Amino acid sequence: MDLLSDAAVLNAEKITSDASTGQVITLPEITVVADVPLKTKYPSLDDAAFGALAHIIDKSIKEMVEYAGWVYKNPNDSNFYFTPPRKGKADYSFAPKSDIPVTANLLAIGSYGCYHTHGGRPKGVVVQTDEEFSIGNIFTGEGGDKAKATYGKYFCYLGTPQGQIKKYTPIDLLPATQQSQNPTGLVETIGNF
Ligand SMILES: [Zn+2]
Repeated sequence: MDLLSDAAVLNAEKITSDASTGQVITLPEITVVADVPLKTKYPSLDDAAFGALAHIIDKSIKEMVEYAGWVYKNPNDSNFYFTPPRKGKADYSFAPKSDIPVTANLLAIGSYGCYHTHGGRPKGVVVQTDEEFSIGNIFTGEGGDKAKATYGKYFCYLGTPQGQIKKYTPIDLLPATQQSQNPTGLVETIGNF
């Protein structure tokens, strides 16, 4: 409910300037799906990520902090799950991979990924980088969302303050035919809140 009322304020065609990027942004209209049912298991990794992000994004935006967790396939029943979100800071979040309750050697590459939110800013303030994965160094894994996922060879899901759900597939998880066109991986918008 709070997310809906916040969105209504944001949709009032406010124009804000962002000190960190120097950009002036007109806010788009967004549709908020309130009360997405919280399930215990999902049919795909994408669905589990959607469930996790829909579950936490309202709280994340309200508190203006990031939350993070993992989505994974349990090899014992072939269903997909998410781990409980861990609270981070305004521009940082972390969940240890050991939160995944599957023995490490059963956790196949491509069967899991992390999810996190970007909590956003005070009402009326939009920062364009909050709508995107941070980058970092993809060779060392230092610093950004893409770097960590590329280095760790796992999918990365992001819920943004403007209600987008994005998926980052690092190059090693792309089909061979797509790798040359996407040398730094592929970002797709897979849904909206
Ligand atoms: Zn991020």
